[in-house]
Amino acid sequence: MRPEILFPLFAPISSLPGLGPRLGKLAERLAGPHVVDLLWHKPSGLIDRMAVGSIAEAPDGRVVTLTVRVDGHAPPVQANRPYRIRCTDHTGMMDLVFFHVKGDWLGKKLPVGQKITVSGKAERFNGQLQIVHPDYYGPAEDSPPLAKVEPTYPLTGGLNPKPLRTAIQAALARAPDMPEWQDAAWLKRQGWPEWKSALTTLHCPETERDIDPNGPARARLAFDELLANQLALALVRWHQRRLSGREVTGDGRLRAKVAAALPYTLTGAQQRSLADIYADMGQPVRMLRLLQGDVGSGKTVVALMAMLNAVETGAQAALMAPTEILARQHADSLAPLADAAGVRLAILTGRDKGKARQAVLDRLLSGEIDILVGTHAIFQEDVAFRDLALAVIDEQHKFGVHQRLQLAAKGRGVDTLVMTATPIPRTLTLTAYGDMDVSRLDEKPPGRQPVKTLVMPAAEKLDEVVHSLPRAIRNGQRIYWVCPLVEESETVDLAAATFRHATLREFLGDRVGLVHGKMKGAEKDAVMAAFAEGQLDVLVATTVIEVGVNVPEATIMVIEHAERFGLAQLHQLRGRVGRGTGASTCLLLYERPLGETARARLETMRDTEDGFIIAEKDLELRGAGEVLGTRQSGLPEFRLADVTVHGELLAAARDDAQLIIDRDPELEKPRGQALRVLLYLFERDAAVKYLRSG
Ligand code: ADP
Ligand code: MG
Repeated sequence: MRPEILFPLFAPISSLPGLGPRLGKLAERLAGPHVVDLLWHKPSGLIDRMAVGSIAEAPDGRVVTLTVRVDGHAPPVQANRPYRIRCTDHTGMMDLVFFHVKGDWLGKKLPVGQKITVSGKAERFNGQLQIVHPDYYGPAEDSPPLAKVEPTYPLTGGLNPKPLRTAIQAALARAPDMPEWQDAAWLKRQGWPEWKSALTTLHCPETERDIDPNGPARARLAFDELLANQLALALVRWHQRRLSGREVTGDGRLRAKVAAALPYTLTGAQQRSLADIYADMGQPVRMLRLLQGDVGSGKTVVALMAMLNAVETGAQAALMAPTEILARQHADSLAPLADAAGVRLAILTGRDKGKARQAVLDRLLSGEIDILVGTHAIFQEDVAFRDLALAVIDEQHKFGVHQRLQLAAKGRGVDTLVMTATPIPRTLTLTAYGDMDVSRLDEKPPGRQPVKTLVMPAAEKLDEVVHSLPRAIRNGQRIYWVCPLVEESETVDLAAATFRHATLREFLGDRVGLVHGKMKGAEKDAVMAAFAEGQLDVLVATTVIEVGVNVPEATIMVIEHAERFGLAQLHQLRGRVGRGTGASTCLLLYERPLGETARARLETMRDTEDGFIIAEKDLELRGAGEVLGTRQSGLPEFRLADVTVHGELLAAARDDAQLIIDRDPELEKPRGQALRVLLYLFERDAAVKYLRSG
């Protein structure tokens, strides 16, 4: 239950003065649904409302505040002309300019002869000073003293600065004094302010330093957020570990058989990862390990060996993939190796129904199946194992922590191995997977052909590319052709892909397929399967190409509008080729004009194939907010912290979280109580579930 002290901050955002239901909706889109979300909406800059003594002294192009006398009104003579109000002081004259004025309210508000204070951007137009749509204007005697410096905020269409600022100030007024959750000595050493004082500095800044990410106010708030993130992960992990695990150490006989059947030896990285995994499994605590490795780095065989380790002890293992097609592919590639070792492997997906499904369930419960490969279908309640000891989960970000726990609940002391092909920079791994130990496959299997990457302008090269395809197809090569998704309109995107599909068909014949996001799962799978089996030579796709689908004969990847893709996406797409023995090519076609960042991205792609280097570069080019920011990735979003700037604070937050767990794992001491408030403040409610209510 959320602590009472936080209630005012979790009231709906539309309850703030200045907003109301209509603007409230816009504010919600901009910041989030609650009052607290506006507190996290940080200023993007400052306006210095320079006070100037007279019209003559007002510099061109700056925001100024000055006091003048209203001299006369000039309503527009034509509808599309502005309304002008002539003002003077002892040094000269100036105009206040208003467009689209209806009625005579200006005449009433600013009567001739009145002394007024105005503030806004001063411009000289034909030598004459003017302020177009001043931010403030009113009688000089009752105008409140304007803040000299004012924060500016990111906006959204329809929501103007003024009501937004009013709402943020009101949110600030509702912020309570919080119990201090940071360590007192640490806080003192950093020279950071208290929580409320830091927030006040951020939203009522006086200098650039007050809103600077490295300034004390932002740094304190960023650390709060990082600490909430790290503490939540540490709590989940602590809870998991406390549940008793089991010592799983096989005798190696099955692994030896599989090793003998493999046409290759394991890479150093695979062996190192396996050593980590075996050591974890052999401990009486639960394993929670992330296996990070680029596409094609050989995660599957690592998973198999780990599963065999469990099977050797007489227990069972499960491997879960995010889609039907990936589950089938895993099952197909593992089946011959399982056979070689005499291990019984079965598959269970949403497509298995009725008697066939029941047969699998029966064999699973009686222990006649050693390894179960499947999709979400494995979660279903009637799926019961005789003795599940290891759960392997492929492509974690499509599942999420909750589902991971669900699978682990189907056995006793189940070890969990999560595999991801998304290369994440080291710093970010901590924020996303801080609850797990990490093994990295940072070495590719030998003999991998590098993918030749060419960057070229579509305008000149598209025809040439299309004309080179028939020969490639005659040589048995298969081609992916990717058309991008533009956010604005899925329909327009689809039109682009449909058009490309049609033109390629015209030129190449009917062995050209199309797959896109609006197709049903089964439909999509059927087209992908046709391409994998060689009934199609070319697969035109929007970006739905499944991560991990293996088509070794696909050796050409064409990406149109490559400048629109992020680095991580380009890397994932390129990973679809270069999986077989044939030389592979990736053609990045771009449209002009090419922005600087887009150019840097394409050059990075041309220069390296190393997913971890690409991930670091991505972080550098985009900033952590975006690398982690995409909601669909399932990775946490930060509002106040910026991992590119606050990397050191992140490490400190992790250490602090560890210390807290060591000293007060139930968060019962005074600081622990304050930390509970912190967790709720940053909506890490799920983590608090693991604590006894206090
Ligand atoms: P990932 O799941 O990491 O994308 P896979 O496990 O599908 O990669 O492996 C990609 C390919 O590399 C497979 O064809 C696999 O047989 C092969 N492979 C895996 N490990 C090795 C190795 N040590 N040496 C040679 N080939 C390997
Ligand atoms: Mg794989």
